Amino acid sequence: MRYFKFKGFHLLIFFHVLAATPVFSSSDFSNQLSTNFLDIAKKAEVFDWMVKIRRKIHENPELGYQEFETSKLIREELDKLGIPYKHPVAVTGVIGFIGTGTSPFVAIRADMDALPIQELVEWEHKSKVPGKMHACGHDAHVTMLLGAAKILKQHEKEIQGTVVLVFQPAEEGGAGAKKILLAGALENVSAIFGLHMLPNIPVGKVASRTGPIMAGSGVFQAIISGKGGHAAIPQQTIDPILAASSVILSLQHLVSREADPLDPQVIIGQAAVQRCNATVIFHGEVEPFYPPTVNNGDLHKLFQNVAVNLLGTDKVNVDMAPFMGAEDFSFYQEVIPGYLFMLGMEYNSSEPFQSLHSPYLKINEDGLPYGAALHASLAATYLINYQQNVTQLG
Ligand SMILES: [Zn+2]
Ligand SMILES: [Zn+2]
Repeated sequence: MRYFKFKGFHLLIFFHVLAATPVFSSSDFSNQLSTNFLDIAKKAEVFDWMVKIRRKIHENPELGYQEFETSKLIREELDKLGIPYKHPVAVTGVIGFIGTGTSPFVAIRADMDALPIQELVEWEHKSKVPGKMHACGHDAHVTMLLGAAKILKQHEKEIQGTVVLVFQPAEEGGAGAKKILLAGALENVSAIFGLHMLPNIPVGKVASRTGPIMAGSGVFQAIISGKGGHAAIPQQTIDPILAASSVILSLQHLVSREADPLDPQVIIGQAAVQRCNATVIFHGEVEPFYPPTVNNGDLHKLFQNVAVNLLGTDKVNVDMAPFMGAEDFSFYQEVIPGYLFMLGMEYNSSEPFQSLHSPYLKINEDGLPYGAALHASLAATYLINYQQNVTQLG
């Protein structure tokens, strides 16, 4: 099915691609939006409101598919802003709508879940839930999407289509994105944008790339069984520890000596060498495989132009090194042209760096307006360009 002989097919596909992902030219980007969304996002009225929301979510972290209070907070804020939404979608998910309510539709997404980690940062708004922490910055992600919603709602008349706000559950292993898609919540959506905060990029800077940006991931369990016996008669025993040790070392050898670091492969079978039995169990239902995150090329051009317009050329890295973490944003990209970028929220460059998922992670709230403004600008500009392309093609 990958090779089409008929010319008609080529033509059909060509038009489909044009309709699905408008081609953007750099001249389209100047002065498209009457207001600079970053200026609005930095205003005390919006910034202080966002900080308050972020701290509230940070204090009450909830794990995947249990984000009931977070979901409630989101709906309360959307109610106050007069933004209609669908709920529940995928257990705790909330899908909001701003604009004309008609086609074209563009989605912007935030994940809501926290991690089973005990927060070790001592501060006023430390997690109040023992053993749970927003150590991946999803508290900031939710906040910035609400920030974008507030800005876009204020400029609803300028929106040339509909912005779909996606507050999704369970990014951390639960594949909430897949559930959102299965619920049919993103039918008719022609592009989707997402961001991830990073603690090692300064505030005001962003990074991304076209094509593959993050790895795929999968979880499996290997059970190696041997046969017990007296240590003095090893020939009558089968030692699973030796076999397991051999597997561990061999896997490391594979990574360091056999596999392309950007194309990792894992081969099993070491246990058999040591006369043990090995069983490999895939937990596809509980922990689904995440496909690689692959950024759409046309949306990359749009991101580059919007981000440079908003932040300046020196603040936008459009060729970041791919990152070996995985993101369930990739599920959206399998069915909709999608784009994920990294947002700088470095706390303080003089402090030791703490990675995502560290119990010591601290994020810089000064980055919140940048995320909100980028979300809003990307969505609004996408729709303007989409309409321009439809007119030109028509
Ligand atoms: Zn994470
Ligand atoms: Zn994350």
